[in-house]
Amino acid sequence: MGNIITAKFGGSSLADAQQFDKVKAIVEANKERRYIIPSAPGKRHTNDYKITDLLYICTSHVVNSIPFDDVYRIISERYLGIVEDLSKKHSQMNNLNIQGYLDEIKLKISNGASADYTASRGEYLNGLILSKLLDFEFIDAAELICFDRYGSFDPQSTHEKVSKRLVNCQRAVIPGFYGADSEGEIKTFSRGGSDITGSIIASEVKSSLYENWTDVSGFLMADPRIVENPNPIENITYRELRELSYMGATVLHEESVFPVRDADIPINIKNTNCPEDPGTYIVNDTSPIKRSGSITGIAGRKNFTVIAIEKTLLNVEIGFNRKLLSILEMNGVSFENMPSGIDSVSLVIEDIQIKNKLDGIIDEIKRQCKPDSIDIYPNMALIATVGRGMSKTKGIAGRIFTSLGKKNVNIKMINQGSSEINIIVGVETKEFETAIKAIYDEFV
Ligand code: ASP
Repeated sequence: MGNIITAKFGGSSLADAQQFDKVKAIVEANKERRYIIPSAPGKRHTNDYKITDLLYICTSHVVNSIPFDDVYRIISERYLGIVEDLSKKHSQMNNLNIQGYLDEIKLKISNGASADYTASRGEYLNGLILSKLLDFEFIDAAELICFDRYGSFDPQSTHEKVSKRLVNCQRAVIPGFYGADSEGEIKTFSRGGSDITGSIIASEVKSSLYENWTDVSGFLMADPRIVENPNPIENITYRELRELSYMGATVLHEESVFPVRDADIPINIKNTNCPEDPGTYIVNDTSPIKRSGSITGIAGRKNFTVIAIEKTLLNVEIGFNRKLLSILEMNGVSFENMPSGIDSVSLVIEDIQIKNKLDGIIDEIKRQCKPDSIDIYPNMALIATVGRGMSKTKGIAGRIFTSLGKKNVNIKMINQGSSEINIIVGVETKEFETAIKAIYDEFV
């Protein structure tokens, strides 16, 4: 039957009836879109509620013996409103008794249903509505997505269930975010986990493409709050994505890339509100580089502290770094980077890691490592310039440093990963935005 596209629609794409209509038009525009994974309704505007957040509040109210009727009313009104508005245009919606489902769920929550069950109902109800609207079969994710008794995803059992159930089902809506364990108890992924469901289904049905529909037209080369109108990224590899998302550029749930990456299925991040925009393709790490000598994106994070240690003849002292790192280990602290010179070494550590521990760590370093000096630089930021087009190209680092120099940005630290797909610089937090703009302007 040709290619299969699995399409996941995020919460903002299904926040109200108007968004549902856009989704219907998108799905119907391409017959290859056969397996559709909805999230729960998200925010319609900045001050709105996400249905999943409200469902978690219901659980905590029940646990604390507080009535949850008021919260549940807001949830019910959202779904009833969506169905009522859709019914005006689509007669099939009149056959959906959403009130009946809402009553049944409310009863289960009052009887102490688990937090996972309650939270999952956001996707469940959205799945029922969307399947009716599209006239696709509704398949409860509890029938397909399996969890083991420790609450972890169980790929083997999922594979068995999906291959049996979907073999004769050409088109289906499968709610995201949850599944069930062998006892039939509902289990959820971590927050944002509908992305993971989409990725699992895409790989199980051997899709040619996994579309992830959201409210942005893919990844941008830099944060639009810092760089005005940054260019979109057309193409990014899984490894580049990992580097950029670690540095704060998040659109997708981190764990969601693995099933499709292993099955060599590209992901296309698309915008439900501008479906004609090409979006970003996330592709295999070995995909050919289109533009060598260029960068893919720039991202950064603030709130780091650098501990800079100096000691004469450090280069010939055996075990110095081991002592240093064991002090961090004893304190349960991990570090991000460890640039070193001949007689010096620095530790770059996230602030939340060393909160309340810094003084103890410094005392311990003085006692065990006997350095000549220790300096602390708080308020540091790291900026990563990422791109597979950088590898084996001369002059990229030079251009980054010159662009920063021209803007008077003082580079406190430099680190290049051995894979040559990123260069990280450390700068003072107050120069963070200037530095990102300078690098962007140099390359774009
Ligand atoms: N609705 C869930 C959440 O808000 C899962 C998702 O949207 O992907 O986390």
